[in-house]
Amino acid sequence: MFVKAFAAAFSLCLAACTAVPLSEPESAGPLAEPSPPAVVKGHEMQMAFLGACERWDEWAKPAPPFQLMGNSWYVGTCGISSVLITGEDGHILIDSGVPEAAPLVLANIAALGFDAKDIRYILMSHEHFDHVGAHAALKEATGAQIVASQKAKPVLETGVIAADDPQADAGHPDMTPVKVDLVVEDGEVLSLGQLQVTAHATPGHSPGALSWTWWSCSLPSEPPVCNRFAYIDSLSAVSADDYRFTDHPEMVRAFRTSIDKVRLLQCDYLVTPHPSAGSMLDLMSGEYGLFLHKGCGFYGERLSQRLDERLAKETAK
Ligand SMILES: [Zn+2]
Repeated sequence: MFVKAFAAAFSLCLAACTAVPLSEPESAGPLAEPSPPAVVKGHEMQMAFLGACERWDEWAKPAPPFQLMGNSWYVGTCGISSVLITGEDGHILIDSGVPEAAPLVLANIAALGFDAKDIRYILMSHEHFDHVGAHAALKEATGAQIVASQKAKPVLETGVIAADDPQADAGHPDMTPVKVDLVVEDGEVLSLGQLQVTAHATPGHSPGALSWTWWSCSLPSEPPVCNRFAYIDSLSAVSADDYRFTDHPEMVRAFRTSIDKVRLLQCDYLVTPHPSAGSMLDLMSGEYGLFLHKGCGFYGERLSQRLDERLAKETAK
């Protein structure tokens, strides 16, 4: 009940996020008076990750899994994120990683004591091989349903990058095709028992990109608290060499709308498909750990600045 109430409040908040700036939603205790979180069970696991991985590390390099907070877990590689959200009625996995990551992600889930066969949904950030390349293998291993945006669906089902993707001519390898079981719209809430995860369409880096938000709550053995999580897609203006964003005003508009959406999201924990894009390793070694005591507004500003820089560079050429 407790979890449900927070999840519902957060979902409502996010439904409005695209239109108007939000006031601070009602939330759990630590948001009013930010303070460093109590040493969580996962602290040692995070230190192990820091010991094994570098910033902007290799995509297929094995990493030890760790607890992000409560029922949210990092199960990806050193260079590519996969997040497991666990619940009594099954689990949700966001992103699978490069094809070689499939056995690593499965091993990480097992190392945390979870059964990968309890994963009911596999979600995506964006339809590039480094984030959804292991979807087919993980679907086969878990029996989970694949969840994607309408735009990403044909890419996942053919394994071929879309012709209108800025990286269409960047030499991406084809992926093993995988059937999409469920298409989500912008603002749609995916429910699994007490878990509720909200989809946000954030095109820009790719046409079908999605970001996700949810409340993560402490485990029964931990002090009771729920925090707002955001898994925000890459939103970096990366492209094939001959692609100019300035030649595609519709893409630039989509990009800016997505970044504006991200600016309005309020979160206490931020995870990005490439961990270092959201400064994950730097935060881990800081005073507050991954808890963003000043919120995640900085990330939207950073994205906006980088897009401006890219467009200015194109214009100057
Ligand atoms: Zn990408």
